[in-house]
Amino acid sequence: MAEKSKGKLSIHTENIFPIIKKWLYSEHDIFIRELVSNATDASNKRKAIDTNLKDEDLSIEIKINKADKTISIIDNGIGMTAEEIKKYINQIAFSGAEEFIEKYKDAQNNIIGHFGLGFYSSFMVSEKVTIDSLSCTEGATPAFWECDGSIEFSTKKGKRSSIGTTVTLYLNMESETYLEESKIRELLEKYCNFMPFPIKIGEDIINQKEALWNKKPSDVTEDEYKEFYKNIFHEYTDPIFWIHLNADYPFALKGILYFPKMRQDLEILKGKVKLYCHNVFVADNLKEFMPEFMTMLRGGIDVPDIPLNVSRSFLQNDKQVQQIRKYIIKKIADQFIATFKEDRKKYESYWEEVQNVIKYGMLTEDDFAENMRDYIIFKNTNGEYVTINEYLERNKKEEKPTKIYYGVTENTQVSLLNLLKEQNIEVIFCDSQILDVHLMQHLEMKLQDIRFVRVDSEINELLVDKDKAEIVDADNKTYNQNLEETIKDLIADEKIKIEVKSLKSVELPGMVIYDEFMRRFQEMNTYMTEGKESLLSHHTFVLNAENPTVKKIFDLSRSDKKDDAKMLIDYIHDLALLEQKRFSGDELKAFVDRANKVLAMIQ
Ligand code: ADP
Repeated sequence: MAEKSKGKLSIHTENIFPIIKKWLYSEHDIFIRELVSNATDASNKRKAIDTNLKDEDLSIEIKINKADKTISIIDNGIGMTAEEIKKYINQIAFSGAEEFIEKYKDAQNNIIGHFGLGFYSSFMVSEKVTIDSLSCTEGATPAFWECDGSIEFSTKKGKRSSIGTTVTLYLNMESETYLEESKIRELLEKYCNFMPFPIKIGEDIINQKEALWNKKPSDVTEDEYKEFYKNIFHEYTDPIFWIHLNADYPFALKGILYFPKMRQDLEILKGKVKLYCHNVFVADNLKEFMPEFMTMLRGGIDVPDIPLNVSRSFLQNDKQVQQIRKYIIKKIADQFIATFKEDRKKYESYWEEVQNVIKYGMLTEDDFAENMRDYIIFKNTNGEYVTINEYLERNKKEEKPTKIYYGVTENTQVSLLNLLKEQNIEVIFCDSQILDVHLMQHLEMKLQDIRFVRVDSEINELLVDKDKAEIVDADNKTYNQNLEETIKDLIADEKIKIEVKSLKSVELPGMVIYDEFMRRFQEMNTYMTEGKESLLSHHTFVLNAENPTVKKIFDLSRSDKKDDAKMLIDYIHDLALLEQKRFSGDELKAFVDRANKVLAMIQ
């Protein structure tokens, strides 16, 4: 019979496992990360000692035995003698535990760092754990260790015939889900994807091995970046843009951030930037490292200097974490600016896809806004992209603040846009609604002396024909004043302000304008005002005194056909509103009824 020995783990606390379970690792899944990390370390150590070994000779195998309810992690790393097991597993690990408990007493919620307890995380999911190991030291014999999660352990002669270690977990009842191969695959892919040795289940290699960000940016081809992105994020479409981060000083950091192609589905909201430490996955979307706007991105960042089991309060207070965060933000801006300067065409080609991230970033991070302000671009009526500075340069005015005219899209307010185009007034488009409204406020505040004016928030003076004869009638009133009174009378709605102008173009009968301030307020508070009467029911209805239909209405209203005049003016009002907003069901019905009546007038 093999020589057997029993012992007590050298620890002063009766049973540390409940504490480990409760405090150190709230997430049970990470046991696999810890054990595969240990196997990787052991393989690295063996490689260092035995220089004849090739990389492909080393691998880590995961075996699931459903009948026995066990999972084994098998490596051919350095192995351990019975002495070493005693030293590293029983004592060293537990001195880590003691240190942990010491700290835990003082600072209950501030569990910082890695205490060398990795191996013991296996007890979160197991009722018993065994180690069978053959050390690579010459003449070593295999050693076997067994522990049931109490402070008792036993050792005897092991069975391993090849160098390396087999750790076997006898899963506890609550953890039987880990017997599903798919679950283990998922976890390996998540935590161990970039570990340097092949990780196998049967013949399948699960991990990717090479984290592209570890390479020098100059050594990576465009296709490699794209391929890597598709593999890691299971994407079918290419990313539009990426940033390779590579810093050694004042902190080490490597990573790649990808801007995904925008899609309509919700998946896109779940961008993921994964944090790694020495190629081992730590967490997704860690807010402390990454500004909120980056959660729309995908990618990975490896920060070797953070402890694996990081606590939130540690991260929030850590100066280096703050520096890293700043660095990342700066790098994103730098990359955009470099592309803007070196390849404006390229910058413009992906602008539509990245603009929301940039704008959101500017609104949430001051430094980013500061850097990017001169590089946001807007499409103008000629289909070119312009920066604010370029617009101002071209549209220099004495008057301050300088007005920057904007429209929503090329397909809204079309009539008005055409009028402005005829007068050579440059209009830019801002169509990402809420974001743009906030961005405009921001720019107005920071740049001063500029004001964004939506094309339909005022009648541009260049559109008005000031020289039109102002003939007065017997009551000393102009035609336009009389017309205004008539229309007011016909519309008879105090929420609607009536204005009559002589426009240079006769074609457009009328348009609806909203006060810039009121509309912005409405747009920024859509959630607040939902369901309530829209502020936009208050608006100004501008009539073009030069338009033949308007003239006709005026004549009708003075004859006995006042009803027809009312119908026609309402119809023009509807048409003007249609350029501004989406009609509700009732509004649409009223509009169609009216249109049919107008058509009937032709007979
Ligand atoms: P840490 O990995 O942080 O040192 P662990 O509790 O995970 O803490 O492991 C304690 C020690 O046990 C390791 O430092 C290592 O010396 C030894 N060890 C653990 N797993 C293995 C393994 N698979 N092969 C060789 N040695 C191992």
